[in-house]
Amino acid sequence: MAKKHYDVLIVGGGISGTALFYELAKYTNVQSLCLLEKYEALATLNSKGTSNSQTIHIGDIETNYTLEKAKITKRTAKMVEKFCLQYDLQDKIMFSHQKMALGVGEKEVHFIENRYHEFKELFPYLELWDVEKLKELEPKVVYQDKAQTKVRPEPIIAMGTSTQYTTVDFGAMSEALATQAQRATEIPTDIFYNTQVTDIFEKADKTFEIHTSNRDTYTANFVVVNAGAHSLFLAHRMGYGKEMGCLPMAGSFYMTQSHFLNGKVYMVQNNKLPFAALHGDPDILSEEKTRFGPTALMLPKLERYKPGTYLDFFKTLNFDFHIVKIFWDLLKDADIRNYVFKNFLFEVPLINKKLFVQDARKIVPSLGVDDIEYAQGFGGVRPQVLDKEKEKLMLGEASINPGNGIIFNMTPSPGATSCLGNAERDMHEIVKHLDLKFDEAQFLHDLTE
Ligand SMILES: Cc1cc2nc3c(=O)[nH]c(=O)nc-3n(C[C@H](O)[C@H](O)[C@H](O)COP(=O)(O)OP(=O)(O)OC[C@H]3O[C@@H](n4cnc5c(N)ncnc54)[C@H](O)[C@@H]3O)c2cc1C
Repeated sequence: MAKKHYDVLIVGGGISGTALFYELAKYTNVQSLCLLEKYEALATLNSKGTSNSQTIHIGDIETNYTLEKAKITKRTAKMVEKFCLQYDLQDKIMFSHQKMALGVGEKEVHFIENRYHEFKELFPYLELWDVEKLKELEPKVVYQDKAQTKVRPEPIIAMGTSTQYTTVDFGAMSEALATQAQRATEIPTDIFYNTQVTDIFEKADKTFEIHTSNRDTYTANFVVVNAGAHSLFLAHRMGYGKEMGCLPMAGSFYMTQSHFLNGKVYMVQNNKLPFAALHGDPDILSEEKTRFGPTALMLPKLERYKPGTYLDFFKTLNFDFHIVKIFWDLLKDADIRNYVFKNFLFEVPLINKKLFVQDARKIVPSLGVDDIEYAQGFGGVRPQVLDKEKEKLMLGEASINPGNGIIFNMTPSPGATSCLGNAERDMHEIVKHLDLKFDEAQFLHDLTE
């Protein structure tokens, strides 16, 4: 029952936990740092390269982002790029692909044209690509037959770029963040694996006592819980965030056997369906075969491809009549109802491929059932947060900060893109709380434009 004390202790070794570990080690005078990770390695859950879409969501082709939101996401997304460039990780874990938002049919074509003009100033590299240009850049999007003789009947247009970094193996980036954190400082920067945090207690002297599954106990002046859906689970155990519940939305992918698309092709999104951005792109971890997805299916467990966590799901859902009302309101909407039902069928063997192909044909009209396979072992879980007071599904990330030296973060998509931005927010809070020094000039120089 060892007892170790740290200035700051982080729970969870995904991209969020390692980003904070890095920023504190590199840019503050924190005296000691500890990261506790439940599994045998960093990033084995949602930050793993095969679990997510590997996309840097900067806001240029994400059609559900307003211009105001894109101004914010641009800064945080660029931090990912700057980190990778600083350590020469381009073309190793960060790659440049062509990317576009594709409009199909009269209405979407107008939408893309208007959006292009609105966003051009913020993202000057954006180009507008008509059908002739698309024949050259992404021919499978244009033709309705495999021989590429017949152009699809609906009008199409795309806004996109070929000059930007677009894709990251966020699992490898988590490892790079932890390695660079440990290289950046002489202070203790301990990482303990196979160490699941079971409970956190606030002590009378305002520090925290952290209990783990292997019976080791730690104490810390500040604790940040970056444990995905389990952040809310641990918050509830301490009596925080009771006004929230967690809805784990699993995302799966389908994979082609060969190279289909040259870059990322996203579609115009339905704003009612925040996690429904079906797209196709080359997978950097599967010899650039094309992945289509992700799907969205509610899963009664908090972790994909790991045993257990069913009971944790029921506890974290925090079920009561507010949750019933949220589900009722969501399912009243025909678009959402059909989407939920369809995504359930996308997971049912024998019929799943046929149904999925129908949706994916909006991107590649000639895609056949035999061209794709369910990508076994790929995909993860987005911990979508339910706000029980407002009786609404929260569309983005959520953070609980009671102001007493502990923070809990829940990070559905695009949480990997915003990892360094979220860490910056928490680092400021820690610096203030512990009265630390922060090298702001170096931070801004290294990580922002
Ligand atoms: C299908 C899909 C597609 C996505 N696509 C994108 C994308 O293209 N771009 C993007 O930016 N984002 C994307 N995301 C979101 C992104 O993957 C997540 O936001 C991000 O990985 C969250 O990182 P995290 O570190 O907060 O959580 P996680 O990666 O889930 O890490 C949490 C860590 O905490 C550990 N842990 C949990 N409980 C405990 C405990 N009790 N004690 C100790 N450790 C614990 C876990 O083992 C894990 O290592 C996608 C997500 C999904 C599911």
